[in-house]
Amino acid sequence: MALHEDRLFPGETAMRGIARRLFAAIERLPIVSPHGHTDPAWYANNSAFPDPATLLIKPDHYIFRMLYSQGIPLERLGVKRRDGGPVETDGRTIWRLFAANWHLFRGTPSRIWMEHTLETVFGLADPPNTKNADHFYDVMSEKLASPALRPRALYEQFNIEVIATTDSALDNLEHHDAILKSGWKGRVIPTYRPDHVVDPEFEGFHSNIVKLGQLTGEDVMTWRGYLAAHRKRRAFFKARGATASDHGHARATTANLSPQEAEALFGKVVRGQVSPAEADLFRGQMLSEMAKMSLDDGLVLQIHPGSWRNHNVRIFHDFGRDMGADIPSQTDYVGALKPLLDALGNEPNLTIILFTLDETTYSRELAPLAGHYPALKLGPPWWFFDSVEGIRRFREATTETAGFYNTVGFNDDTRAYLSIPARHDVARRCDCAYLARLVAEHRLDEDDAAELAHDLAYRLAREAYRL
Ligand SMILES: [Zn+2]
Repeated sequence: MALHEDRLFPGETAMRGIARRLFAAIERLPIVSPHGHTDPAWYANNSAFPDPATLLIKPDHYIFRMLYSQGIPLERLGVKRRDGGPVETDGRTIWRLFAANWHLFRGTPSRIWMEHTLETVFGLADPPNTKNADHFYDVMSEKLASPALRPRALYEQFNIEVIATTDSALDNLEHHDAILKSGWKGRVIPTYRPDHVVDPEFEGFHSNIVKLGQLTGEDVMTWRGYLAAHRKRRAFFKARGATASDHGHARATTANLSPQEAEALFGKVVRGQVSPAEADLFRGQMLSEMAKMSLDDGLVLQIHPGSWRNHNVRIFHDFGRDMGADIPSQTDYVGALKPLLDALGNEPNLTIILFTLDETTYSRELAPLAGHYPALKLGPPWWFFDSVEGIRRFREATTETAGFYNTVGFNDDTRAYLSIPARHDVARRCDCAYLARLVAEHRLDEDDAAELAHDLAYRLAREAYRL
């Protein structure tokens, strides 16, 4: 395959030339990764990664859901069952199965990311197939054991300037402490993710808030104590470098209840007496409470609605959460965000970053909202849409209304560490391709496009996330 230097650039010659020039100036900028899911223990312990299948296949829901959709059981891919039942444990066997099915990834971003990883990290420039599967596995295993492929060495090789992890509100952040104490110069910061202590419908919600009380010494069974506990945990995260919180809710519902109403609703929540509608209202009120806390402590608020989690009952029963069965659903923002915007939408010092899995909302709802309210910014396309076509559709649907400067650069949003450079490379190339078209159509000077390319690749993410 050997990565082509013009990959993802326009096919038309004049535009391709412009895209090349824009990209050449930003290609080597450091990676700013303000939202992602890498494991902080990697950077703290700096141990060698395990075998190639454990690193590249088993944890990647983009990969195993595609194979599953073609009838390959998750057990054969080494994904752990909840009941401890037998699954494939031999990494080489798993890699062979993946290589034999490489054609399934044609036209997908997974293929682009994997090709980039194989070539730039492992020096393997051929497409995986059944014939080279064992050779690939041997080369990758040997390289993964070398010091050059330890987590900290890769952070430096990838030219990462800062990377955020996503951490449970109940996490003690010991790995972040260990990284800070180690004297290593890499910057790995936590993100406050409180869904499991905010969402009454989350598994284990009640015992989670009991833990929240134990950690903070607050009486979390009272509304006042519960809010104070969040403030303390946010301060704990901020002291370790956090600049943002992250909220994954089924809907974008927000609420603007009076203190008395909120307290009464919380009483029902702790007694386990809420209906599904009241649970949604409570999550919505908590987004507004978090936004108020953000005004005081400066954390950026990220909202990720619209995923129908664990859609496949059988997969959830056998394997649990995060198994590639989270499906996008239609999402309302204009009505749902109004209570929060009524309360805080005009605050210039508040930053709320909105993500979506419903692309139809970009031009109809999100760009008009972000193009008006000072507190709102648009997050990059994510999950199903941080792809070549997804990034193009995002720019086409939002730019004319929200401009570029109500967007926040790129997030890789990944736990697949080795794919981070590939994902930023795709985003940078796609943005340069989009800008090249505006230049070719005389809608933008090339000088302005060059400044924008730099902003989209680097500056906007640092600025929006207060890094
Ligand atoms: Zn995420």
